Amino acid sequence: MNDWVSELADRVIAESERRAPGKPVVCASGLSPSGPIHLGNLREVMTPHLVADEIRRRGRECVHLLSWDDYDRLRKVPAGVDPSWEEHIGKPYTSVPAPPGSPHANWAEHFKAPLIEALAELGVEYRGISQTEQYTGGAYREQILLAMRERSAIDGVLAEYRTKEKEPAGEYFPYRPYCSDCGRDLTRVTAYDDESTELAYTCACGFGETVRLAEHDSGKLVWKVDWPMRWAHEGVVFEPSGVDHHSPGSAWVVGGRLVGPVFGGEQPIGPMYAFVGITGMAKMSSSRGGVPTPSDALEIMEAPVLRWLYARRKPAQSFKIAFDQEIHRLYDEWDALGRKSERLPAEQAAYERAVGTASGPLPVTPRPLPYRTLASIVDVTTGDEEQQLRILRDMEVAALEEARPRLDRAQRWVETQLADDQRTHVLREPDAELLASLGEGEREALRLLGEGLDTHWSLDGLTTLVYGVPKTQAGLDPEAKATPELKAAQRAFFALIYRLLVGRDTGPRLPTLLLAVGADRVRKLTQA
Ligand SMILES: [Zn+2]
Repeated sequence: MNDWVSELADRVIAESERRAPGKPVVCASGLSPSGPIHLGNLREVMTPHLVADEIRRRGRECVHLLSWDDYDRLRKVPAGVDPSWEEHIGKPYTSVPAPPGSPHANWAEHFKAPLIEALAELGVEYRGISQTEQYTGGAYREQILLAMRERSAIDGVLAEYRTKEKEPAGEYFPYRPYCSDCGRDLTRVTAYDDESTELAYTCACGFGETVRLAEHDSGKLVWKVDWPMRWAHEGVVFEPSGVDHHSPGSAWVVGGRLVGPVFGGEQPIGPMYAFVGITGMAKMSSSRGGVPTPSDALEIMEAPVLRWLYARRKPAQSFKIAFDQEIHRLYDEWDALGRKSERLPAEQAAYERAVGTASGPLPVTPRPLPYRTLASIVDVTTGDEEQQLRILRDMEVAALEEARPRLDRAQRWVETQLADDQRTHVLREPDAELLASLGEGEREALRLLGEGLDTHWSLDGLTTLVYGVPKTQAGLDPEAKATPELKAAQRAFFALIYRLLVGRDTGPRLPTLLLAVGADRVRKLTQA
């Protein structure tokens, strides 16, 4: 394949061979389960995933580590959670109780769970690492002692980026214990002895003690030291990060200075990835505190489509994920790509990365009808499955299953994203007043429509019919090119049909609407 993923994979493989010949290639991501994991953060996982997947497609062993920063401190209680959770601020996420009503053991597990599910649906294979387990299990004990020994060198590097006001009082320590009494990190190291590894600390709660760091596993390295420590410990060769990580004095920059001298490792290849925005999110935002998650996206679009958004853009390009009407256009584009017999190399690569992984293809919808059509069907039938099946049968779909899961995604989209005033309500009874007011030309047009329905009963056929009626009336050939007069007549005719069927001047695309309403009911509502 020939695209940005492939180019990065070339570099990563070559670098891995140089650093650790014959060993599996190591790619890494890191996520903090501080609250709902934002859809925007999915790029942190998708970028290494795509590269790791390409490496596996080439038959090379590759590990994608997903580091859960669940040993970080709770900084603030997000909106929507009981304010009494503030007493847990300063504790690691794994020691904070899950929000009320959660089936999960703690805060971290609660917010990890939906993402774990979403990643499985997306076909992302990774090895999850709980930093709580790593730290409390003593996995980093040697590295912590090393960092403490090198504390003045670390402080020297940090000082280069430090502004005067932030100058710390007293000696610098790159390690912060969690208090043995209150469990929070409101602690200050007051003394440390390299020989004995005895460390004394006091806590804001009043507690204080001296521990032997060589056997004490309750505390962590500060972030800017923690990250390079892990690069070295895991032998990470590829780990992209967001633009916010790349400013002077940031963890990426400082980490790059520390990883060699302190930990004897190397900084990974780490392209910056640009921001991923969201458009729409009408109703979901109110129910979930304004945070769209990857699960929210997977409720309205299939996994291959979401994968495609990431695969087709280089990490440095920002893009938006559509929750609004734009998703219809996105799906049109996706379907057009699927039908294309000759794709450009980059298109082909993005397509293949979207529809499957090195492990095989992802589930697809057997009969992928246009998303906008499905959305209209759901809208018009208000979710009634019997009616949906009747319409789909007219489109030569034998069972709803054939249209799934895409149909379910479109249904969810209508339910959560389509505002009430945008919903379509088919009239129950004919608008007698409007019908009585029609002129002879309008009546004739509606008669031609009614007569043509049965012989044109398909999306394409009905398209031909509705555009054709004004042509017939003007005495034009069905193949005639549209003149401004003809276009005006067609617009007027369409508006008339909409008014008679749904009581407005506009609505879902007419052929879809007609299929959804059904021929008999269309005739009932439009015949004067
Ligand atoms: Zn304490």
